[in-house]
Amino acid sequence: MTVDQVFKTGGFRVHGQVKIHVDPGPGALLLTHEHGLNPLDLDCVVVTHCHPDHYTDAEVLIEAMTQHTTKKRGVLIGSPSVLQGTEKFGPAISRYHQSKVAEVVTLQPGTTYELGDLKLEATPTQHSEPTTFGLKFHSRNGVVGYTNDTQYFDGLEDNFRDVRVLVANVTRPLGMRIRWHLCTDDLIALLKRIRPELVVMVHMGMLFLRHPPAKEAARIKEETGVEAVPGYDGLRVIMEEEITVKRPIKQPSLEDFAKRVPKFVGGE
Ligand SMILES: [Zn+2]
Repeated sequence: MTVDQVFKTGGFRVHGQVKIHVDPGPGALLLTHEHGLNPLDLDCVVVTHCHPDHYTDAEVLIEAMTQHTTKKRGVLIGSPSVLQGTEKFGPAISRYHQSKVAEVVTLQPGTTYELGDLKLEATPTQHSEPTTFGLKFHSRNGVVGYTNDTQYFDGLEDNFRDVRVLVANVTRPLGMRIRWHLCTDDLIALLKRIRPELVVMVHMGMLFLRHPPAKEAARIKEETGVEAVPGYDGLRVIMEEEITVKRPIKQPSLEDFAKRVPKFVGGE
């Protein structure tokens, strides 16, 4: 999907009194403009791990956050591989860009960071990039969780029991599990244990062209009772006493894509 961009890879933004962009992969900057958001008003950029679908636009967003690198402002949060580099990975962000922000923060599972009215808490994952962390955003109105890229493991649910909204990286539909990622059946098992009010499906891979996200979302709702919505670009979730979902007007056209790459849609 990173290359084909039927479902986008720009990550997502969390707004409290402060504004945070999480995992800005390819398209993050353009999609920010396209959806009427302002990259200059960011207070924080978070890059959870060293895979390009999560980091490629981070440097340009840092340029925006620092007002075209004229002001030392904003916080850059990353995993050790993103910021310092490890034997196999990264760093994903140049020393130059790291020097432009007001603060650089390394997060690892179990650590927290407070920014304005939000507290970020890093949660464990099991992913091919070992420094990957998931996230919880604690706010006045409750907690938003982000599984990030991870396979299901014993105890994953313990991290997200208190979330109202879960942003879930569900890479494969049905039970078509691959290592290091969640499939829909894994997500269903997780939701049965944590029962949030809403789950937003992101990071959907090519096989969702054969098993459309709307259909999978309906199946999730049926099996768990949890409201589920595909996280198409432009989706907005407002978490107050009630949770309001504003669906994007423009939905990806799976049919058009099918004409371009029939092998992904035509088959079994
Ligand atoms: Zn990854």
